[in-house]
This record gives sequence, C-alpha cells and structure tokens, in this order.
Amino acid sequence: MQTSDLIKNWLEQLQASGYRVTEPRRAIVELVATADHALSPIEIYDSGRREYPRLGLVTVYRTLERLEELGLVQRVHSPDGCHRYLRAFEGHQHLLICTRCGRVEMFAGDDLDPLARRVEQATGYQVEEHWLQLFGVCPLCHA
Ligand SMILES: [Zn+2]
Ligand SMILES: [Zn+2]
Repeated sequence: MQTSDLIKNWLEQLQASGYRVTEPRRAIVELVATADHALSPIEIYDSGRREYPRLGLVTVYRTLERLEELGLVQRVHSPDGCHRYLRAFEGHQHLLICTRCGRVEMFAGDDLDPLARRVEQATGYQVEEHWLQLFGVCPLCHA
C-alpha cells in the first residue's frame, strides 16, 4: 500500500470506530504511518507540535491507544522501560530494534521450538505463541 493510501485507510478506520479525525490526530497518524522506526510518544509529540503547536501529549497517548486497539500500530518495549510505537505488520515478525535511534529491522528464522518444548516440560504449560524482540545498536549508530 502506498503511504498516502495507508494514511487514508488509517483515518477511515479511526472514523469508522467513532473517532473524530482532527488535524492534530491526523498529524499523529501521518507520523506513525510513515515512520521507518519506532517512535516514542514524546518524539511524536515534539514533531507534531512543530505543525500543530496546540497538540497535547494526552491526545498523542489516546490516539496511539486507539490505533493500537485497531491493530494498526504495535507497541514495542525498550530496555529503558519506555514504550515506542511502530506500524503493525502482516503476519508473524521478529523485530530487531536499535536502542539509540529506534530503527527497526525484521528478521526471519525461528529456532525457538526447542526452547518452547523445554519450557513446556519444565512448567506444564502449552506454549502457543511467542513475541520476539532483540535490541542492539544499528550500523548507522555504531559507525
Ligand atoms: Zn540506530
Ligand atoms: Zn517466531
């Protein structure tokens, strides 16, 4: 999907869910839909305010929550304990996230089955899914 279609699609879904699309909310959608890296609410707030000085941090959090409920964005965790938000992707993904700039790569390869078996044996659980995020420093940041 092209970026402009993606933004239009997200705004339509927000509206369909009973959410009024105001200019500040549109700015938030544009930022998150087009970003190639995971953004913190504060980063979204700072960038959004350049265009809409009256944008509030509460609006940023609420809009992100709503986008997350709609399955359009995913929350990613950082080792520093703060959350960042990233466009949701189709299908099962493994994420690699730069702790300095928030850049995100997907990677394939799933050697987790043996681990899941061991955990099942040790705990009696039936493991059904996993969510894998690795953190590191990207080539641009450690160059
Ligand atoms: Zn980086
Ligand atoms: Zn996997």
